Amino acid sequence: MEKNAKIYVAGHRGMVGSAMVRRLTKAGYQNLVTRTSSELDLRNQAAVARFFEEEKPEVVVLAAAKVGGIHANNVYRAEFLYDNLMIEANVVHQSHLHGVKKLLMLGSSCVYPKLAPQPLREDALLTGPLEQTNEPYAVAKITGIKLCETYRAQYGCDFISVMPTNLYGPNDNYDLNNSHVLPALIRKFHEAKEANAPEVQVWGSGNPRREFLHVDDLADACLHLLHNYSGAELVNVGTGEDLSIRELAELVARTVGYTGALRFDASMPDGTPRKLMDVSKLAGLGWHYQIGLAEGLRAVYEEYAARPEAAVI
Ligand code: GDP
Repeated sequence: MEKNAKIYVAGHRGMVGSAMVRRLTKAGYQNLVTRTSSELDLRNQAAVARFFEEEKPEVVVLAAAKVGGIHANNVYRAEFLYDNLMIEANVVHQSHLHGVKKLLMLGSSCVYPKLAPQPLREDALLTGPLEQTNEPYAVAKITGIKLCETYRAQYGCDFISVMPTNLYGPNDNYDLNNSHVLPALIRKFHEAKEANAPEVQVWGSGNPRREFLHVDDLADACLHLLHNYSGAELVNVGTGEDLSIRELAELVARTVGYTGALRFDASMPDGTPRKLMDVSKLAGLGWHYQIGLAEGLRAVYEEYAARPEAAVI
């Protein structure tokens, strides 16, 4: 990938897209193309076609998606399916029509079957039923993977797909209804500390296990894969280490300095019992994460605590 290659980062205002812009800029790529969602609605076929005709990007990073935590995925089921399908179909198809040399699509660990053997290997895809709470999102992302795969098989397009584990970092979503667990717990513990509240509610049983990766590590892995991977099969990106939601809650409480109690709210869903990535394929391609969870969490909390109102829009 040449330093002056024209790279379209779709979703540059999101947590993943903004991390990609930072990483590419740091690596010396200066010819980045971006559009906000009000400038370009990626669900709109004609608008996406016009954009590709005008800009003719050489490389595309598809980080635009409708995303959210367990509650949002479960409630806005139609939107999670429709928006993501349209975005992927439009961007992948136009990338093919306009000769994009490399496309990297971001998916998610929820594409794997709910009860797939752990750690989750890439070849577990489509071997069993999905987790119900995020099935629409997962089906859309599986379709994205298949778009990359089929356009590679039929047209020879160098389109790859990358499945990150649960992510956290700058520009995360702190809305308590829509966010993922890590930012939600940061906010809940911070607000409880400020208010001297005696307890904090944590959803579910606390028993599910999750893996967390700092988004700057993900961006680094994506750049590595843009340079070093051209395969049809998806690639997992994670740390290969997980912890229970209870352990995560205790770690966030310690990081925030909250000393009250945890109360588990069994009326909220647990979701998949465990989602641990097998990262041996990525390790074989020469990449390993750098930012440990305790360290990454400290950095993210520092940024949040400096301006909590900025994080909560
Ligand atoms: P998932 O990884 O797709 O299940 O998405 P989440 O990050 O939203 O949730 C992960 C786990 O954390 C689930 O078992 C949730 O029930 C649990 N959890 C505990 N407290 C919270 C919270 O305040 N918000 C969210 N989103 N999840 C929570």
